[in-house]
Amino acid sequence: MNAKKIIIIGGGIGGLCTAIALQKNGFEVTVYEKVRKLGEVGAGLTLWSNALKVLRELGVADAVIRAGSKVNRSQIRASNGDMLHNARMGEMETQYGEPVIAIHRAALHEILINALKPNTLNLGVGFVKFEQDGKGVTAYFDNGKSDTANLLIGADGVHSAVRGQMFPEIQLRYSGYTAWRGVVETENEAALGLTSESWGVGARFGIVRVDKSRIYWFATSNQPAGEKSTGEQRKAKLLSLFKDWHDPIRHLLDSTPADLILQNDIHDIQPFAPWSTGQVTLLGDAAHPTTPNMGQGACMAIESAYVLTRSLKEESDIKSALRRYESQRHERTAWITNTSWTIGRGGQVRNPFLCALRNFLVKIMPASAMQKNIHRAAGFDVTYLL
Ligand SMILES: Cc1cc2nc3c(=O)[nH]c(=O)nc-3n(C[C@H](O)[C@H](O)[C@H](O)COP(=O)(O)OP(=O)(O)OC[C@H]3O[C@@H](n4cnc5c(N)ncnc54)[C@H](O)[C@@H]3O)c2cc1C
Repeated sequence: MNAKKIIIIGGGIGGLCTAIALQKNGFEVTVYEKVRKLGEVGAGLTLWSNALKVLRELGVADAVIRAGSKVNRSQIRASNGDMLHNARMGEMETQYGEPVIAIHRAALHEILINALKPNTLNLGVGFVKFEQDGKGVTAYFDNGKSDTANLLIGADGVHSAVRGQMFPEIQLRYSGYTAWRGVVETENEAALGLTSESWGVGARFGIVRVDKSRIYWFATSNQPAGEKSTGEQRKAKLLSLFKDWHDPIRHLLDSTPADLILQNDIHDIQPFAPWSTGQVTLLGDAAHPTTPNMGQGACMAIESAYVLTRSLKEESDIKSALRRYESQRHERTAWITNTSWTIGRGGQVRNPFLCALRNFLVKIMPASAMQKNIHRAAGFDVTYLL
């Protein structure tokens, strides 16, 4: 296709993977990222086999596997520690050819940035608005500068300013719960290969070993959006919320530096279409934000990066490429958003009787039924789609 110059707004996982994929296919790419330093210090994430397949195409899968830790088991527990479900995630590698990986976000960002050509990423430059005239699209930034290209990709996250200009009517949907995240340094390797999520009344706590020296945890609780708090207040609240939960939850919270505890209200958007207007399109959380209950938000951004690049490479014009990209991504990302929303509703139930019933049902449900969605998500291979 003739469209050679592409601007990406946002240097998150979606924006960086798109830049790598496009550069590998001969496009000229510039990424503009508003923060000065990338990679949230206090968080990790899991990347499933479906994302690893794309990362292999991008040439970074082995580096990601080395920097992270393979997930062999994923457990659901009750708040007192009772085992409700024990999924064999290690089987994914045998079945789908790639493992499920837990990794620190800063480590992932470093790998992705190193895979870019020099001078691709402009840090500390915030997107303000775009203008397009059918021939090109110009982005304007908060440093007073501008840049013009054949295509602009808004990969600027759930609160996307690019989407805000394109579709001002689209509203975020608040899930009813907030999430905190933290990372603890520990040399204890006991939990290597294990992730767990414990379910209580209107609250959940997850533990993920991201590498040999660090454990990442996340916690959720039902509450109104918009809480303002200091790190010390967050830590005190978490210690109180989870004081009666099983080991080592209290220990992990105690060991986390208060000023490194992150808090995000959890939003998504009900699946919408289109994602494009003229020479501007959306990718990742800007296009298909999801609640984190399936651990698939970044995986979907990575898949979309691949599909968009292939569409741009193989179609003769931008309009056809964007139409193909959206038609190949909409159904799958909508399924993830909707399924994840439903899982979140179940996970955050606040009636103690319903919680006990939910935990009982999860405990007696056959493993195959519990793992149906896991396999539908992880077993999907976008690299065979095109
Ligand atoms: C608690 C929690 C746990 C999660 N766990 C997982 C998990 O285990 N696995 C998984 O796959 N996903 C997980 N996710 C989801 C995942 O984090 C997101 O889906 C993923 O980060 C989306 O990537 P993105 O690049 O689209 O957006 P983002 O990561 O949000 O990146 C957007 C980037 O755009 C930049 N930006 C924003 N506005 C502008 C602007 N005006 N100008 C320039 N730059 C701008 C931002 O600074 C940011 O760097 C989790 C999310 C949460 C909240």
